[in-house]
Amino acid sequence: MNVKDMQIRKSDGIGPKTFQILKDNNINTIFDLINIFPTRYLNFMETGLEQDNVFIKCTVFTLPKMTFVKKNLSYMTFDVTYKDRIVRVTIFNRNYLEYKIKENQVIYVTGKFEANRNNIIASNIYFSLKEDSFEPVYDFNQIPSKTLKKIINNVLDKYSIYIHEELPEYLLKRYNLPDIYTAYKYIHNPSSELEYQLAYKRFKYEEFLTFELKLQYIRQINRTSLKTPKKWDINVIRDFIKTIPFELTDSQKEVSNEIYKDLKSNYPMNRLVQGDVGSGKTIVAALAIYAVALDNYEVCFMAPTEILAYQHYENLSNLFKDTKIRIEVLTSSIKGKTRKELLDKIKNHEVDVIIGTHALFTDDIIYDNLGLVITDEQHRFGVKQRQALREKGFNPDVLYLTATPIPRTLAISLFGDMDSSIIKQMPNGRKKVKTKVVLEDNLDACLSFLSNELDNGHQAYVISPLIEESDKMDLHDVYKTYDLLKEKLPNYKMEILHGKMKQTEKDEIMNRFKNKEFNLLISTTVIEVGIDNPNATVMMIFNAERFGLSQLHQLRGRVGRSNLESFCFLITDDTDKARLKIIEETTDGFKLAEEDLKLRGPGDFFGLRQSGVPKFKFGDLIQDYRVLENAKNDAYDLVFNIGLDRYVYLKDKVNKEINSIKD
Ligand code: ADP
Ligand code: MG
Repeated sequence: MNVKDMQIRKSDGIGPKTFQILKDNNINTIFDLINIFPTRYLNFMETGLEQDNVFIKCTVFTLPKMTFVKKNLSYMTFDVTYKDRIVRVTIFNRNYLEYKIKENQVIYVTGKFEANRNNIIASNIYFSLKEDSFEPVYDFNQIPSKTLKKIINNVLDKYSIYIHEELPEYLLKRYNLPDIYTAYKYIHNPSSELEYQLAYKRFKYEEFLTFELKLQYIRQINRTSLKTPKKWDINVIRDFIKTIPFELTDSQKEVSNEIYKDLKSNYPMNRLVQGDVGSGKTIVAALAIYAVALDNYEVCFMAPTEILAYQHYENLSNLFKDTKIRIEVLTSSIKGKTRKELLDKIKNHEVDVIIGTHALFTDDIIYDNLGLVITDEQHRFGVKQRQALREKGFNPDVLYLTATPIPRTLAISLFGDMDSSIIKQMPNGRKKVKTKVVLEDNLDACLSFLSNELDNGHQAYVISPLIEESDKMDLHDVYKTYDLLKEKLPNYKMEILHGKMKQTEKDEIMNRFKNKEFNLLISTTVIEVGIDNPNATVMMIFNAERFGLSQLHQLRGRVGRSNLESFCFLITDDTDKARLKIIEETTDGFKLAEEDLKLRGPGDFFGLRQSGVPKFKFGDLIQDYRVLENAKNDAYDLVFNIGLDRYVYLKDKVNKEINSIKD
C-alpha cells in the first residue's frame, strides 16, 4: 500500500466541513493531503510599534465592542496595553472571537499599525504561541491553519509506513537530505527554520532528479529504437546550395553536417538547433528537408502561429522554387472541402512538406511516409507523440529550432534528452541595430526621431508591458500608449495588438502591418516570436526595466531584418540604466542570456513563453541551478550505469511522469 492510492477518510480526524472543502479542492488521497504545503511559517518576532507591519505581545485592557456594518461585514474594537501605552485594536469579521477575548488576557496581535490613529488593523490574533517554534501557515481555502496542521501531522504518523522512500539512500547520504517521512515532518511541524529548509532542499532535489530521470529515460528509449538510415545524392544538394542567393556561413554548414549525420544514422534524430534571431535557421531546416524529401519521405514543419506558418511557406517556396519539392500549409482554419483535399494529397504523398500549427498529428491526418518533423519554437515534441507515430509505423527524425538563447550549462540540464547544435555566427554584412537607453523625460526627442523614420516610409513597433491599466503597478499599457502616441503623433496610422485578441484578429493585424497599411504597431510582447517585417526599422520599448535582457534582445530582433538601418529604444526610468546599458553594447544573444543568468531573476530570464522551459514547483532554475546539475549527473548515472530497475518506487514515479506529459 502507498499513500498515493489511499483515500482520505473522515475517520482520519477530519470534520465533515473540512472534509468537503478538501474534496472540493481535489485533495483525495493521503498523499494529496500531506502535499498541501504551508505558504509561510510564523515565528513570533516582536516588532515593536516603530514600523507599519507589527507583531506584538500585549494584554487585553477593555472588552471588545462589535459593530455590524452590513451582512458579511462586521468589525470589533478593543484596547490593549503594550509596554507603557494603550493601543486600540480593530479586526474585521471575527465575531466568533468576541467572547474569547477576556480582560487581562495575554494575546498576540499582528497587523498594520496606523500610528496617527494609535490603532492596529489586525490581520490575526493568537491566544497562545510557542515563542520559539515555527508555526506553519497554510492559507488553504478557509481551513484554519491550526486544523490543517493537526490533521496532516495526524495522518503523517498514522500512515508513516505507507509513505515510501523513493530516492536511493546513497543519494540522500551524498547530499545530506532527510528521508521522506522526516522531510514531511519538517515541513508540517518544524521546530526550527533549519528543519524546513532541509526539507525544501530535499523536495527540490527530488523534483529536479525526477525531471532529469525522465529526460535520460527518454534518451534511452530513443537509443534503443531503430530507423532506416536516410540516403540521398549529395550532388543534388550541392546544386541546390548553388541556387541559394547567399553564401552559407561556416556555422550553418557545420550544423547542417551534424544534422546530415543524424539523418544517415540508425537512430532517430532528436536534435535542438539554437541560433540567435537572424542567424539563418530556415536555410538549415531547408537543407534537412531537401535531403529527406530526396529520399522520398514526407516532412512536417510545425510553427507556433498561423502567420509564422505562412511566413515559412513563403520562404521555403521561394528557396525550393527550382526544385520538385511540393509544399502545403495545413492549419485549423483550413476546413471543409479544402481540408479534405489536402488530407488526400498528404495520404497519397502528393506533397512533400506540410507546414502547420500544432495539429499536424490528429487522427484524421494520414501520412504516406513521414520521415522528418521540424518544430520551430515553443513546441516540445514529446515521447507520447513519438510513441503515437511509432504505432502508426513511423519513427521520424526530429529537429527543434529555437531562437531562445539558453546558457550552455543550463541547456545541457534542461534539454538533456536531445543533442544540440548552435549556430554561433551571424551572416556577414548584417547591420547592427543601433540601441539606446532613453529616459522617460527624453521621450519627446525620441518620438520626433521616430516620426522622421515614419516619414521615410518605414514602420515601427512600440511595446508596452501590460495590456490594460493595472491599479497595482504604474506601468505603460497598450491602450495608454496608444492614446499617448495618438496625441503626440496624430498624423500616423496605428493599431493595437495583444495576447488577449483572437488568433485570427492578430493574424489580420500582422498581415496588414506587413502590407504597410499602417505605420505603428502598438503591442505587448506577443510579437516577439519570429515575426518578419523587413520594412520596420524602429523598436521602441516602454518600461524596458520590466523585461529580461534576453527578452529585449528578442524584441530587438524584430527590426534590422533588411539592409535598412534600424534602431531600438529602451525607454525607462532612472533606476535600471546600468543593466540596460549591457544591451546597448552587446548583440550576442548567448552573452545576454548569461548576463541574465548572472543578474538573476528567473521571471526575467524565462519571461520568454516560447522557450519551452519547464516550470518547477520547488526548484528555481537560476538559484538552484547547481542542484539541477547534480540531479542531471545522478540521473544519467542511474539510467545508464546503475540501472533504474533496482529502485522500483523511483522507476514507477518516472514512468508516471512520462505518461503524464501533455500532447
Ligand atoms: P532565423 O534564424 O531568425 O530564423 P532566418 O532563417 O529567418 O533567421 O534568416 C534571416 C535572414 O537572413 C533571411 O532573410 C535569410 O534569407 C538571411 N540569411 C540566412 N543565411 C544567410 C547567409 N548565410 N548569408 C546572408 N543572409 C542569410
Ligand atoms: Mg526563424
